[in-house]
Amino acid sequence: MPELPEVEALALFLRERASGHAIARADAASFAVLKTFDPPLSALVGQKVTEVGRHGKFLDLTCGNLHLVFHLARAGWLRWREDMPGTPVKPGKSPLAFRLVLDDGAGFDLTEAGTQKRLAVYLVRDPVDVPGVATLGPEPLADDFTAGALAAILGGRRTQIKGVLRDQHIIAGIGNAYSDEVLHAAKMSPFKLASSFTPDEVEVLHQAIVDTLREAVKRSAGLAAADLKGEKKTGLRVHGKTGQPCPVCGDTIREVSFADSSLQYCPTCQTGGKPLADRRMSRLLK
Ligand SMILES: [Zn+2]
Repeated sequence: MPELPEVEALALFLRERASGHAIARADAASFAVLKTFDPPLSALVGQKVTEVGRHGKFLDLTCGNLHLVFHLARAGWLRWREDMPGTPVKPGKSPLAFRLVLDDGAGFDLTEAGTQKRLAVYLVRDPVDVPGVATLGPEPLADDFTAGALAAILGGRRTQIKGVLRDQHIIAGIGNAYSDEVLHAAKMSPFKLASSFTPDEVEVLHQAIVDTLREAVKRSAGLAAADLKGEKKTGLRVHGKTGQPCPVCGDTIREVSFADSSLQYCPTCQTGGKPLADRRMSRLLK
């Protein structure tokens, strides 16, 4: 899933490539993809893209006085083409979810792999009309996201830090991958309770969040949409690297189930050398 750094890079890419161009057509491949009905998609035709921004993991194309907002979800992606096919979008089983064509013939497809269709497109007059945008927590790369602000977020929360970091209502833009990376950089257990952080630990975590995201944004910036996925994979240190050596200490990176998915971590760097108990597994063994 694209997270803050990749969505930021997509925004940058689209800002350079699409700004100033008018929209020639916008088609949703199914009713399920488009979450709004007023204004209709046809209202986009002829509108110029004036700005491309990001809210958490949502992309926001300002088109005249409308906002085309979309969320790529777990298996979605944006595919840019200099020469878009002129054929209309046909509903069906293809991964194509949405197509936007600009006045110069270039444009992009939003595609989604797999059977679970979660990719969402909204056409609204104000980005906060998108429920997922209205309820976003603070942007971790904004100036006012200080260690003090993070302390206020963590205080009194008796939940595991891994869950806090990837909850979009608490902090915007961090998902399963970068929460693993942040906790590895901070040398903290993903199961540590948010309420247990000392002021020094909050400082360390804050620095890890900002550094990890900034570095990832720097690596992804300027890359074409097609190259972002590969860059994300190679740039990660622990996420998705189960069984591989930790780049910091050489210990074997382990995996444990967490909520609806799994997380990766380094026992030596993060949990005092002790592997975390897999709760799902131990429940089965009891
Ligand atoms: Zn390590």
